[in-house]
Amino acid sequence: MEYETVIGLEVHAQLLTKSKMFCRCSADYANAPPNTHVCPVCLGMPGVLPTINEKALEYTAMTGLALNCEVAGFSRFDRKNYPYPDLMKGYQISQYDLPICQRGWLPIELDGETKRVGITRVHLEEDTAKLVHRTNELGETYSLVDVNRAGTPLMEIVGEPDIRSPEEARQYLIKLRAILQYLGVSTGNMEEGSFRCDANVSIRPRGSAEFMTKVEVKNMNSFRAVYRALAYEVERQTAAAEAGERLVQETRGWVEEKGVTVSQRSKEYAHDYRYFPEPDLPPMAFSRQWVEDLLARLPELPDARRERFMKEVGLSLYDASLLTASRDTAEYFEACLPRVPRGPDASGPAKAAPASLQKRAKVVSNWMLGDFARLLNARGLEIGQAKIRPEHLCVLLDLIDQGTISGKIAKDVFEEMFDTGKTASQIVTEKGITQISDASQVEAVVAEVVKANPQAVADYKAGKQQSLVFLVGQVMKATRGRANPKLVNQLLEERLEAAG
Ligand code: ADP
Ligand code: MG
Ligand code: ZN
Repeated sequence: MEYETVIGLEVHAQLLTKSKMFCRCSADYANAPPNTHVCPVCLGMPGVLPTINEKALEYTAMTGLALNCEVAGFSRFDRKNYPYPDLMKGYQISQYDLPICQRGWLPIELDGETKRVGITRVHLEEDTAKLVHRTNELGETYSLVDVNRAGTPLMEIVGEPDIRSPEEARQYLIKLRAILQYLGVSTGNMEEGSFRCDANVSIRPRGSAEFMTKVEVKNMNSFRAVYRALAYEVERQTAAAEAGERLVQETRGWVEEKGVTVSQRSKEYAHDYRYFPEPDLPPMAFSRQWVEDLLARLPELPDARRERFMKEVGLSLYDASLLTASRDTAEYFEACLPRVPRGPDASGPAKAAPASLQKRAKVVSNWMLGDFARLLNARGLEIGQAKIRPEHLCVLLDLIDQGTISGKIAKDVFEEMFDTGKTASQIVTEKGITQISDASQVEAVVAEVVKANPQAVADYKAGKQQSLVFLVGQVMKATRGRANPKLVNQLLEERLEAAG
């Protein structure tokens, strides 16, 4: 029997509000000592009253609008009850049957085709405290509680089970994270836990319309981990089904080092959360005007920017997709280009760019997706942390354009700029690696090379084109890669012709 994969993702994203969800504590706790961003409300003391952070509502509604959802006219918070040491009040304020946003979709691109993945809902809740597990000198384990994170706004985006492969899941997450970054509502940083994904996965006979028992996988902290966990789970479930085993509904955890998922708890131990309306907070009514104002204020989103990069500067779909997948990358790219002239109506069709701009765009794109991406990856850095800023890359590109350095040497210069933060001009001056474009200087080397390689010269005369490549190589070697390759070619050919 052939099986089909069914995946639905639940994403939790921390919102970039200044204060926490229901109190005045600062939500910016990342580098703070433990338990310093706390107050009676987020510590869960009895008798205190929460108040709603309006910015968090705004961010959630903006996200819903960007995901083509309806923003509810009426919404409220509910209590989700469960006992756990990181839950200060014994319940979490969340949303149950009246979320802020519902019924949307997110487009993803696969092999040049667009697919819509349904969005079930976008709702708001509060994050929990953090448990830190330790072992003392005697080998005894103990846990510490850091309440800084408790009560920070957490947005949950629940997707429909419309995803059909681990790769689609990866594309969905990349796009979703980009949207949150473009909106400025979340950093989308998965390693830091600001963007967390629970992946629900099941298999079913291909062609079946029914959904089968699903497994929820947790603990992935990179896109790659989500992909691997899903691929592992599909394989495990398929093998079980083929062996005639019945799959059980359970939560499994991804173990990165081993590349496997392990059972954490099964349905029998599922919580009964006893949801009920939060009595300490008023229900919320969102006016049409409020929603329309937010809609009008939405910034340019990844898909629109990708289209613009294709139309305005002639990038390919592939390049434009990669360059717009994170906001920082897209902004870096744009900062390397001369300003594109735009009509009075910026949303109107973009004008085709002059050829020089297109050429520059392609060159910048090649650098960013090539050497730059490679070095960022190798050093484990995000583009925002790179020492090379757009203006520095521009100087390097100008030096190549002017023929001051060759494209080949530029790669070494780039790497040194990347690691030291020095400018291209500084490095070129220090190392004396400017390109030799002076014809008489190059001519002298060409003459020597021709004299020293009579066999290659004879071969060339006998019609062997390869020999020219060899001779060019010898000249480049003699000048340590500094001779202008165009000039070398030209002078070599001239000399060989003349000698014939
Ligand atoms: P739960 O009550 O267990 O949280 P939900 O019905 O609320 O289950 O769905 C949670 C997530 O699981 C959603 O993202 C949804 O798309 C996904 N999902 C639901 N059923 C399946 C299934 N059979 N296979 C894969 N994913 C599923
Ligand atoms: Mg769930
Ligand atoms: Zn507080």
